[in-house]
Amino acid sequence: MSNDLRTPVPPGATIGILGGGQLGRMLGFAARAMGYRIAVLDPDPDCPAAAIADRVVVSPYDSVEGAVELTQGCAVVTYELEHVDAALVDAVEAAGVPVRPGACALRMTQDRLTERRFVAGLGIPTAPWREVTDEAGLRAAAVELGTPLRLKAPTGGYDGRSQVRIADPGEISGALARLAGPPRAPGIALLAERELDFEAELSVITARALDGSLATFPVSRNVHDAGILVESIAPAPVDPAAAGAARALGARIAEALDAVGVVTAELFLLRDGRLAVNELAPRVHNSGHWTIEGARTSQFEQHVRAICGHPLGDPAAYGPTAMVNLLGTGEPREARLEGTDAALVDPLVHLHVYGKRLVYERRKMGHLTVAGASEAGEAVARGRAALARLRWT
Ligand code: ADP
Ligand code: MG
Repeated sequence: MSNDLRTPVPPGATIGILGGGQLGRMLGFAARAMGYRIAVLDPDPDCPAAAIADRVVVSPYDSVEGAVELTQGCAVVTYELEHVDAALVDAVEAAGVPVRPGACALRMTQDRLTERRFVAGLGIPTAPWREVTDEAGLRAAAVELGTPLRLKAPTGGYDGRSQVRIADPGEISGALARLAGPPRAPGIALLAERELDFEAELSVITARALDGSLATFPVSRNVHDAGILVESIAPAPVDPAAAGAARALGARIAEALDAVGVVTAELFLLRDGRLAVNELAPRVHNSGHWTIEGARTSQFEQHVRAICGHPLGDPAAYGPTAMVNLLGTGEPREARLEGTDAALVDPLVHLHVYGKRLVYERRKMGHLTVAGASEAGEAVARGRAALARLRWT
């Protein structure tokens, strides 16, 4: 099957999504609202996106056969996680179906070391970093960069996994072995970087259309707990100059990645007002969930518009919006949520549950959005109050 890559993809056509998690599910809702059909590739037939998919290809994220099967009948393919093997994207493109945001964006961002070189090439600051392959290299990095350090696996990390904090040189011994994640061959390059004492974490989501036009969402201010996002507030209550600089950075990055779709930049706002890039994701992002109720166009709709070759929507916020993540608790078990009535007593609160069958400690199960509050602090307080009324039994 071959497509004219410049022709817009009309409603009725099928969008393929590599990955079937909550991001794929919410992308699917937006795409369905616009009349598209959805095919999803995921190893789990019960994945969150299965509920909204017309077709699920049950396949691992590194199976070229699975990707080729997904591509059958799709007009465009996207990905909802950057851990899909780039070979899959090549296979889809070889079948004549465009993959957006694109192979380049995926390759540049799925390996932290490649990403660092890309960001450095743009002259954009990051935390000072070194590539290390063994303990001796890590010791040398600790001398040059100082401590605390973060040692990060180049691939496969998310929600704070696959990284270790090295508080002082005494913790270097055995740090490489403590790094969780898939087994790594000795000598694999890792990223060691200085831990920054930041003022705030920010993120900026930029959409780039097929014709190169750009639309940047208002910046979100994010709070993480042990590496996992717990709260976002948008528009970020920070110095407008910093927010403006963040949006300009986001736009430059989306352009340099030659992306078609949305690209997220996670940033640190340093105490002297400068910005540093933490990491990039060529996809919709947890810190953009507030846009569903809080912006004129959601990040999901924006991504669908971009990958289907349509003009972008207005990304402006209606007003201060807060998002709080609903995380799992306890041992793995069937997920049953209690307290919904109490949480929804506040009419400004919106509940999103991702339909995951099993709940366990810190698993991302859903989120709450507060839209319509008079200021950011009130929005987040109302979100926390609603969250406190929910519980997994
Ligand atoms: P992940 O892919 O798991 O999101 P990140 O590199 O974004 O990995 O790290 C997760 C979180 O850990 C960040 O959002 C931030 O809160 C904290 N963190 C990571 N690197 C640094 C650093 N160099 N300095 C300070 N905090 C950091
Ligand atoms: Mg991150």
